[in-house]
Amino acid sequence: MTAVNAVKLSSYDEKLVYEAVCRHFEAMEVAKDLTPDTRIALKPNLLYGKKPEACVTTNPAILKAVIRWLTERGFKSIVVAESSGGLFTAEYMRSVYSASGLRVPGIEEYLNRDFTFAPKTSPEGFEHRSFNIITPLLEADYIISLPKLKTHAMTTVSIGVKNIFGSIPGLQKPDMHRRCPKTEDFVKMLCELCETVKPALTLLDAVDSMEGNGPGGGTVRHTGLTLCSKNVYALDTAAVRFMGLDIESIPHLRAASSMGLVPGDIELTGDSFEPCSPPFKLPDAVKSTGFEDSVPKLLRRPAAFVMDKLLRSYPVVDRSKCVGCGKCAESCPQKIIKIENKKAGMDRRGCISCFCCQEMCPVHAISAKRILKTL
Ligand code: SF4
Ligand code: SF4
Repeated sequence: MTAVNAVKLSSYDEKLVYEAVCRHFEAMEVAKDLTPDTRIALKPNLLYGKKPEACVTTNPAILKAVIRWLTERGFKSIVVAESSGGLFTAEYMRSVYSASGLRVPGIEEYLNRDFTFAPKTSPEGFEHRSFNIITPLLEADYIISLPKLKTHAMTTVSIGVKNIFGSIPGLQKPDMHRRCPKTEDFVKMLCELCETVKPALTLLDAVDSMEGNGPGGGTVRHTGLTLCSKNVYALDTAAVRFMGLDIESIPHLRAASSMGLVPGDIELTGDSFEPCSPPFKLPDAVKSTGFEDSVPKLLRRPAAFVMDKLLRSYPVVDRSKCVGCGKCAESCPQKIIKIENKKAGMDRRGCISCFCCQEMCPVHAISAKRILKTL
């Protein structure tokens, strides 16, 4: 059986979070995996620097509790490592750490200060023969991934598998989007990356989550749960069920399933939980147009198929909100965004609908619109 352990958690109160981490790590027998020499890397989701209440990033209380659990048991070789969207440099990451509330005692002393990377060969038979991985994750013996539960404009959800994308250094991430422009190819690449990086344990922060236009511009939803597993695909499956979404509608779980990575024997342990009701709101970029619902039931599936063929989601800039910061242009893999007169504009003809621009816009000036594909 592949266990996914659930612990309900009402808030980020440090004492409660620590108790939840203790329950998870006991259930997963984490101490048995470690020796005093094990080099442990903690991989939070730090999409960009944002205060914890915004739910864009893994809450610092989770990181602090995990570090406390490890240090109290004598495991001292710990580094908190992440490559956010944007640059992978000391200066940029320092600003991300500060804005995300990580420069506090109990975390600050463990923040990564090595901004190099190196290639790691992937398992035999993978399409991507190797990946450039940030050094602290590359050198770790034991990676504990700490994702945040969010929706995602391209991949529908951002959970454990998507969190591992932050092991690719800085602006090489848009390059991966350029190499895998279709969602099916991108999520397959994510599964290959995950199998290459191999997180040993995943602990999901779903105390407060993000729904709607995630992963950066959605709305906060209190969901009061944490999940933990040694199998990231099992964890993502349990989390998607918790979100009230259909597993089949999640691209990376379809890819993982076709690669034989999703275990068939997932066992839920710990606290019992029900799927969220109503289900998580989806990002505008992936939700249905509603046209399918207006036709007789029998025709809904073909109608959805036709709409999918005809329409595609593209980013649209609200010029009244745009502050001309250029973050969207910097993260666009197709280099089709230009900043003119302090406003962003794009030529949609080269757009691959990856929504990196929307993801990185600090003022949520970019939305998604479904438009005829002929553009
Ligand atoms: S414009 Fe936005 S969605 Fe289109 S390719 Fe560039 S980053 Fe991706
Ligand atoms: S990231 Fe947002 S605010 Fe900055 S230039 Fe692009 S659209 Fe404008």
